[in-house]
Amino acid sequence: MAVQQDLAGKVILITGASRGIGYAAGVEAARRGAHVVAVARTVGGLEELDDEIQEMGSSATLVPLDLRDGEAIDRLGAAIFERWGHLDGVIGNAGQLGVLSPWAHIKPEDFEKVMTVNVTANYRLIRSVDLLLRQAPDGRAVFVSSGAARSARPFWGLYAASKAALDAMVKSYAGEIENTRVRANSFNPGPVRTAMRAKAMPGENPETLPTPAEIAPKLVDLVSPGLTQNGQLFSIQSGEFSPL
Ligand code: NDP
Repeated sequence: MAVQQDLAGKVILITGASRGIGYAAGVEAARRGAHVVAVARTVGGLEELDDEIQEMGSSATLVPLDLRDGEAIDRLGAAIFERWGHLDGVIGNAGQLGVLSPWAHIKPEDFEKVMTVNVTANYRLIRSVDLLLRQAPDGRAVFVSSGAARSARPFWGLYAASKAALDAMVKSYAGEIENTRVRANSFNPGPVRTAMRAKAMPGENPETLPTPAEIAPKLVDLVSPGLTQNGQLFSIQSGEFSPL
């Protein structure tokens, strides 16, 4: 069967591309013809992704970066503009679980770290690439949320609050770009077999969970030019969009 090439010639930026869901999204986007700009701290993981993408005959640009460095995120937009003049899609996937803990026991530095990666970095990213997305024929942005944003269970509060803040940001950004060609949505992957999930649920048998490669096509669909939804949450478990 012919591989769908809906992203041929597109430039797609993916954060957290060194492993897990972001890595699989990088492989999937490249398979569909995109040039992938892959962001994460772990150079080894990014190089592995690069090797896999090159083996498919596609290409990637590796950006080793700590998303807590806001000025580095600012430079990213400028660098993409200089190189390509536009950006077709952003997958804001990088995230941290932080500590599962009662609120009163969360250390300020743990709070700050999770909020910086899960919320502030995505705000800095929107700020850095908004104009580039608007210049693209079909600019698309998707941010990886979690069911935790709504369930907000005891001890999951820090992570839950960060994802709820992210969803609120995506919803209001989507409203702002409603009358442009850009579309912005959130994505809830459900439980996926990754390092983060193993940390959150150490007693769980990972074999019972879908792999990142299995869910990546649905995530990458949200940066496809064919996507029409805006300000929605796509949930893997229901297979449907719902309002944020
Ligand atoms: P992983 O822990 O496997 O991967 C997280 C990615 O984020 C890594 O590539 C990591 O790269 C990157 N990252 C984390 N901190 C930083 C930082 N400071 N700077 C740059 N990159 C960073 O997690 P998953 O693949 O499971 O998670 C991906 C997304 O999916 C997250 O937003 C998560 O909240 C969400 N999610 C996951 C679920 C699951 O079951 N797995 C369920 C619901 C939501 P590096 O360490 O190299 O910097």
